[in-house]
Amino acid sequence: MRQSSESSTLFKWWQWAALLAALLLILLAAQFARQPLSQVCLNADRAPCPDILQAEIRIRYHDSKATLTSICGDVRSNACALRRVRWHQAVCDIHLLRPASAPLLNHEMNHCRGWEHSGDSPEAYARPWQLNEHLIRARGRLRGH
Ligand SMILES: [Zn+2]
Repeated sequence: MRQSSESSTLFKWWQWAALLAALLLILLAAQFARQPLSQVCLNADRAPCPDILQAEIRIRYHDSKATLTSICGDVRSNACALRRVRWHQAVCDIHLLRPASAPLLNHEMNHCRGWEHSGDSPEAYARPWQLNEHLIRARGRLRGH
C-alpha cells in the first residue's frame, strides 16, 4: 500500500527539479530584463533629447499664474509636463504660462520624451538627464526600439 501511494504522487523528484530549474531560468531572465536604463541625454537644457516615450504631446498656454499653479501644483514653476501611461498609450500635457520661452518649451518637451533632471536649478537642468524608468517600462515595447 505504501509503495503504490508513493508512485502515484503528482510529480516525481526529477519533475520537481525540472520545474524549479525552469522557474529559476525565468527569474534570471526577468532580472536581466530589469537592468537599469543607462542612457543619458546631454545638453537637455538646450536641445531636444531622443523621443523614447513617444507620447502624444498636447500643449496648453495659460494667462493666469493661479490657473497654472492649480494644474501644475507648484507655485514656483512657470510650466509643467503631466505624463500618463496606460495600456501602452502615453499622453503628455504641457502647460505653460504665457509668454513662454523656447528653452522652457524644449525643457517640458524633454519630459514628454521620457527624460528627468535630478534637482531643480539651472545647474541641475544643465547636467545629463536620465530616463524615467518607471514611465518607459509602463509604456512597454515601442516601435523601433
Ligand atoms: Zn523639469
